[in-house]
Amino acid sequence: MNYDEDKIDEYTLALLYLVVHARHEGMGASAWKSFDWDTLNRLHAKGYISNPISKTKSVGMTEEGYLKAKELFERHFTTETKKAIKPVPFPKMTAAAKKRWDEISRDSKKAIINSTYCTRCKDMTTIQIREGRMTHDLLVLRGTCKKCGGEVARTIEPQE
Ligand SMILES: [Zn+2]
Repeated sequence: MNYDEDKIDEYTLALLYLVVHARHEGMGASAWKSFDWDTLNRLHAKGYISNPISKTKSVGMTEEGYLKAKELFERHFTTETKKAIKPVPFPKMTAAAKKRWDEISRDSKKAIINSTYCTRCKDMTTIQIREGRMTHDLLVLRGTCKKCGGEVARTIEPQE
């Protein structure tokens, strides 16, 4: 994929203005090499990133945050004329399904997502989750196979 680097440079330069902490009149300025804290806090409040106030140098992006970031990046900076990239819809989960899904550890979620059987590929595949709902005590995830795009589903037992 091709990105418009000049546009990225222009936006990054504009954002540097936001984090200028000292203006040296007639001799430039000093800026932080990081994002603006208020902005990061707002993104955290919106559920896109983990709490930015932590000692680690990286910030966690939620699934919603990552997908939104990808969509925005492609919308603003992709130079390809086709711009065929469809935004990946955020999985629609019922409140009960979301609650159950959030109880599952990060590692288990990863294992579940990467061990869904695709009947078309006749193999284990990665599910791109589209929706989730509870059927009795089972969480049923439905989506598409990352390899072939076919319909796949994954059922999660209560003990999983
Ligand atoms: Zn498949």
